[in-house]
Amino acid sequence: MDLGLKGKVALVAAASKGLGRALAEELAAEGATLVLCARTDETLQQTCAAIRSATGAQVLGVAADVAKPADVARVVQAALAQFGQIDILVTNAGGPPAGTFEQHDAAAWDAATRLLLTSVVELTRAVLPGMKARGWGRILNITSISVKQPIGNLLLSNSLRAAVTGMARTLANEVAADGITVNNILPGYTRTERVEHLAGAAAARENISPEQATERWTNEIPMRRLGEPREFAALAAFLCSERASYITGTSTAVDGGWLRGLY
Ligand code: NAD
Repeated sequence: MDLGLKGKVALVAAASKGLGRALAEELAAEGATLVLCARTDETLQQTCAAIRSATGAQVLGVAADVAKPADVARVVQAALAQFGQIDILVTNAGGPPAGTFEQHDAAAWDAATRLLLTSVVELTRAVLPGMKARGWGRILNITSISVKQPIGNLLLSNSLRAAVTGMARTLANEVAADGITVNNILPGYTRTERVEHLAGAAAARENISPEQATERWTNEIPMRRLGEPREFAALAAFLCSERASYITGTSTAVDGGWLRGLY
């Protein structure tokens, strides 16, 4: 299947590692031009160089913290200056701290809101006018399986990703007639540094080993293994593509069967 991504310009946020990077690799392999951001310039430029040499794609890396609206504006300006347009937006950020309700003060809520919700709002605000003007766009938000089944001890993530989901579902209807789709992709437990970090946090909390924490998760997954970033990226790239033209307002999991509901 030709995904119709050749010549499209994709801005993938938080893409030096993990799920964002895996999706960036997939989009580049399909012929898209990339603009990537992450906070640490050195790691980001290494990722950009690796993708360029593996795929021959044009890749611009702009160091930025998506939790800061001024940084978001700078990334979008750099992308437009270099490539003239942004056809595909993938919103993403690092995960917020784990913890229960009583472990998060007002400052923690504020920081997590900027990271998970404000970043999506600002990125979307910046790219939407150009997409509307061209009558074509793809917005894909990386959220989590926690929007359909909240995960214990991840209160901030559970709460704020639900807010992103509500915004996306509403926006999808507002821009559907402009040729713009808005979807969410819900990773399950996928082998990245984030999952290693969560396993370490669970191990410290419960006095078990990180391997035992990971094993407990794999026992909850019908496929009995963590996902690989490439498995996530396959669906994500499709949802960003021309071929996904009649899919909007959806939240789809890539989770090895972890979600048990009928949807
Ligand atoms: P990761 O920690 O492996 O990678 C995160 C990437 O985001 C890195 O490139 C990092 O540099 C970048 N980043 C972090 N904070 C940033 C910021 N403020 N501004 C710009 N860049 C930033 O994480 P991942 O596993 O790829 O997860 C991506 C998102 O998906 C996270 O929000 C995570 O909570 C969520 N998620 C992951 C899983 C999983 O199993 N991996 C499951 C559900 C949800």
